[in-house]
Amino acid sequence: MQIKAPKGCRDIYGVEAGQLQYLERVYYDLAKKFGFQEIRVPTFEQTELFQRGVGETTDIVNKEMYTFEDKGGRSMTLRPEGTAPVVRAYLEHGMANLPSPLKLFYSMNVFRYERPQKGRYREFQQFGMELIGASGALAEAEILSFLDSFFKKLGLVDYQLALNSLGCNACRSAYNEKLKDYLVEHSSELCPDCVGRSQRNPLRCLDCKNPNCAPVLNSAPLPADLLCSDCQAEFTKLLAALDQLGINYYLAPRLVRGLDYYTGTVFEFQSDKLGAQTAILGGGRYDKLIAELGGEPTPAVGYAFGVERLRLELEAGGLLPEFQPRADLSIVSFADTGVEALVLANNLRAAGLVVDCDLMGRSFKAQMKQANRQGARYLLVLGTDELQAEEVEIKRLSDGSTAMVLKSEITKYIKQSEEANGR
Ligand code: AMP
Repeated sequence: MQIKAPKGCRDIYGVEAGQLQYLERVYYDLAKKFGFQEIRVPTFEQTELFQRGVGETTDIVNKEMYTFEDKGGRSMTLRPEGTAPVVRAYLEHGMANLPSPLKLFYSMNVFRYERPQKGRYREFQQFGMELIGASGALAEAEILSFLDSFFKKLGLVDYQLALNSLGCNACRSAYNEKLKDYLVEHSSELCPDCVGRSQRNPLRCLDCKNPNCAPVLNSAPLPADLLCSDCQAEFTKLLAALDQLGINYYLAPRLVRGLDYYTGTVFEFQSDKLGAQTAILGGGRYDKLIAELGGEPTPAVGYAFGVERLRLELEAGGLLPEFQPRADLSIVSFADTGVEALVLANNLRAAGLVVDCDLMGRSFKAQMKQANRQGARYLLVLGTDELQAEEVEIKRLSDGSTAMVLKSEITKYIKQSEEANGR
């Protein structure tokens, strides 16, 4: 029987691989312009990191982790998210001593045992950022401003930024208690999931999609009801900063995030193109996490988004450029010029052209056909005569026109000719 990829895992190749390279390039370039540095962390970590960092009451830790025992009997987990590993690295390498705030970005594959569907996989790629060491609205505005610029750069306009504040540790704890009491009081009107969650992680009930729970949840107390004046003022400052930066948002008083570590501002970028899973991105402030993992109390804000969901979103909007690899020049060779063709191709590649040549000893006709099929822009026939000559004939495949060009000027000729043709 043929072996297939594991359920919920994908092979990425061809056009899609080109699209991902494009997204990575845009993301990396812009992240660097905003002064963020890349961080890469291990694919697996000690299980305890996620239990303590993400929280035992979350779906991720409860149901979705790929956990295994290694040969030394240690419990390891394939990373289900990036923030806890980045914070672990921050603490392990004493990054608190680096100039503050620390601005990190990453691209990483993460693993969650979820029911696969379009835009939901068991292994998927996330882009994320963590801005560590700065409290307050400006740090949040910087992150949201980066995201707004990134989406605009990709031509994406059809999304909404949803914002809420869960308040500081004190506001959040007070709110948790109030919400818990309210939910317990109404437990007979809630689905079994919400009844369980109301004890363990009441905030998560606000995320419930069960229509039977809606009446109770719609009247539940909201985080905003219990914000202290400092948290309220900071949130107002953020909204004013976004207005000034020209970033649109809407207030989502019921928005909470599934992971335990969020405090203060939380946000999502949402789109209606992807059906029920509206969030393409989620993030927020997590001022408690660093202390919880053994560091000094340190404010931080970050986000992560699924690259595949973004790609689907761009595809739906016709916003992905063409990614068929095309050679600038295809060199047709013969039995006695095959190696010379490779040498010439290498020289031209070093000068900046994308060059293709025959590796299979194909017939002249088959090589011409191959060049056309692969969409090469120019063609050069390298026979023994051309080996000796100073000039060779270059043919433009789009219209069949030809020109005699000095061998030393092939690259210049093709570049100029392409520019003249508006490429
Ligand atoms: P989270 O880490 O759960 O806040 O998720 C952040 C983002 O990752 C989401 O907004 C999605 O874009 C993406 N995401 C989450 N789970 C999956 C999944 N199973 N497959 C693909 N993308 C996902």
